[in-house]
Amino acid sequence: MPLEKYEKDLIALAERAWANPEPGFREFACSQSQVEYLREMGFTVSTNAAGTTTGYVAQWGSGKPVIAILGEFDALWGLQQKADVPVPDPEPGKEMGQGCGHHLLGVGAIAAGLALRDIMQEKGYAGTVRVYGCPGEESGSGKAYMARDGLFDDCDVALTWHPANFHMVCSGSTQSCIQCYFRFKGVPAHAAGAPHLGRSALDAVELMNVGVNYLREHMEDSDRVHYAITNPGGGSPNVVQAFAESRYLVRSTTNPKCERLFERVKRIAQGAALMTETELEIVFDEGRSNTVPNFVLEDVMDEAFRELGVPGYTAEERAYAQRFKDTFDVSGQLSDLPGSVRDKDRLAENIRSSALCDYYVETDHSDKCEMGSTDVGDVSWVTPTATANLNCYSYGAGAHSWQWVAQGKSSIAMKGMLQAGAILARTAEKLLERPERIDQARKELEKRLAGEKYKCLIPEGVSPHYFD
Ligand SMILES: [Zn+2]
Repeated sequence: MPLEKYEKDLIALAERAWANPEPGFREFACSQSQVEYLREMGFTVSTNAAGTTTGYVAQWGSGKPVIAILGEFDALWGLQQKADVPVPDPEPGKEMGQGCGHHLLGVGAIAAGLALRDIMQEKGYAGTVRVYGCPGEESGSGKAYMARDGLFDDCDVALTWHPANFHMVCSGSTQSCIQCYFRFKGVPAHAAGAPHLGRSALDAVELMNVGVNYLREHMEDSDRVHYAITNPGGGSPNVVQAFAESRYLVRSTTNPKCERLFERVKRIAQGAALMTETELEIVFDEGRSNTVPNFVLEDVMDEAFRELGVPGYTAEERAYAQRFKDTFDVSGQLSDLPGSVRDKDRLAENIRSSALCDYYVETDHSDKCEMGSTDVGDVSWVTPTATANLNCYSYGAGAHSWQWVAQGKSSIAMKGMLQAGAILARTAEKLLERPERIDQARKELEKRLAGEKYKCLIPEGVSPHYFD
């Protein structure tokens, strides 16, 4: 087992990140502990990647090929939960929790970096291993800034993973998205005494929402537009609201389509401002590119999975997982199996009969765009990219749940994390064994982009930021 000698350190790092969850772009303690560890392990680390406080790039070796391994570490607001407790039980004094398993994700990437370094040293392979500490995945889109700044330009491949409910190679695309604030400024007035003098910013927010809801009939089925009213302009109906704000998230299957859809939403906002005689300000928040799949890399990752297999679970671990599975109706999971899964009946049977995923779930190549977005998409435009999923939890609950937070320190979670490190390292080793596959992966990317160049959806001038 290539990771045995690091196991204790890696688990301790993940446990620390679980115990001290931090929001995107403010993962100070977590980033620092990872940077220190990687330096101790002989990596050269540059910090403040792409103008972020917490992003880093750790490097070992030199020359080609350059193999990138992507990690994340941010947590989610409102998901504070005690470890191992199978009922909702918020941990006092906390406002966040590792509801997407990023405490495992980041450390799994480090595990892969260490294992790959050791393999290269032992077998005399030339090349560079890079571990990217990518901040703000849940909010912020750290990888998009890093890609915009060219940090992946000299990479030959990028490998990553995500904690999940299944052991599988991911295939298919994800949506590109743009998130912005629409701020309307009106004129305050006494709502009864002088309504004719007021211009309501809240009216503008409402009219914009109405307009967008009419737009829905005329979008493609795979487009999505979501909104939240982030500032209704106060709680008093007796004051004409002088300021109001909504936050919009616009998604489509490709970057150019997403930009066109966003333009349509913008025009509706301008119309709302015109109707209400208010002023409109649009503040850019986030942008993420669609994921470009790479079947060549998926095949190599599939081989690594088959060779190394999935972790075995003890009776005790199965009983632990069952307690969490019992908190959830698994019918939701059964009706929403990943589209690329080859044998859906087998997976459905495993979900019904087992407390957790205990086999390698084979997938087919897929070009289908899955609903949702990740900033891994930005990396995949620049360099061939593949993602593995490793089960770290019981069946039932999905990402962003208190159940995932509660199970985040379990031996099941840690086994998934360590196996992710081993599988990513073995995938990279297979590419070093047969470097022509790196060229094939690059050719596939070029073919898929068909001459289109990567253009980050985050405009120049917008820098990594944090909105409270
Ligand atoms: Zn995540």
